[in-house]
Amino acid sequence: MSLAARQSPDLANDPVITLDRVNKWYGSLHVLRDVSLSIAERERIVVCGPSGSGKSTMIRCINRLETHQEGRIVVDGTELTDDLRALDTIRREVGMVFQSFNLFPHLTVLENCTLAPIWVRKMPKAEAEELAMEYLRRVRIPEQAKKYPGQLSGGQQQRVAIARALCMKPKIMLFDEPTSALDPEMIKEVLDTMIELAESGMTMVCVTHEMGFARRVADRVVFMDRGEIVEIGTPHDMFENPQTERLQLFLSQIL
Ligand code: ADP
Ligand code: MG
Repeated sequence: MSLAARQSPDLANDPVITLDRVNKWYGSLHVLRDVSLSIAERERIVVCGPSGSGKSTMIRCINRLETHQEGRIVVDGTELTDDLRALDTIRREVGMVFQSFNLFPHLTVLENCTLAPIWVRKMPKAEAEELAMEYLRRVRIPEQAKKYPGQLSGGQQQRVAIARALCMKPKIMLFDEPTSALDPEMIKEVLDTMIELAESGMTMVCVTHEMGFARRVADRVVFMDRGEIVEIGTPHDMFENPQTERLQLFLSQIL
């Protein structure tokens, strides 16, 4: 599909995220090579691929934790540029959850969740706390609100991180290997939270090798290798009928 067609406002599924021939280098290392991808509102994308293939870099470019050097990235109508207002918009609309939780250790769970709504969204404290409790109930840990992150299990901390991101009422949620640092028995509780979020209609881009999750919720799976998008398709297409040797090899290593 041409870029013009993809950006036509007549399309029922106007993309909420567009990457158009994005290139990025770290010094002389070419880490994103002509990456193009359009993601519709409410779409759930799973990104997989070998370590070092550029998955984190790509999703970090979507909320501008990293900058790209060539091509265009447009998120909800805002092109990502050096303009600080664009950065502000993106940070409000795009929530991110990392492998390593990244909670503030000296703040309680509740304070972790209310910090950005109070300081960035200028929400009154009582309202921010009410909202935070609502999301802590959603991720099923309201009883942990007064504890510090260090007092929680990894799975609980990751659910706090998800609740914290949701408190900013993002339009899009990005996940970068959210279960990779967890003990096996905690993976399911985090995936269940993500499945519920997916079923609520959130637009999601998830880097994960949890193929059960991909089969259950992904509309499309993106396979990256060496900085390129090598294949895109439905979970069924990708897992049952991989077109490239690179994807076949990858699947044989993880399944
Ligand atoms: P993935 O998430 O698929 O494992 P990354 O996006 O983290 O891959 O990394 C892609 C490539 O970029 C790798 O070769 C990695 O070593 C390199 N890289 C990642 N971050 C940096 C950085 N901040 N500086 C230099 N090289 C980096
Ligand atoms: Mg990564």
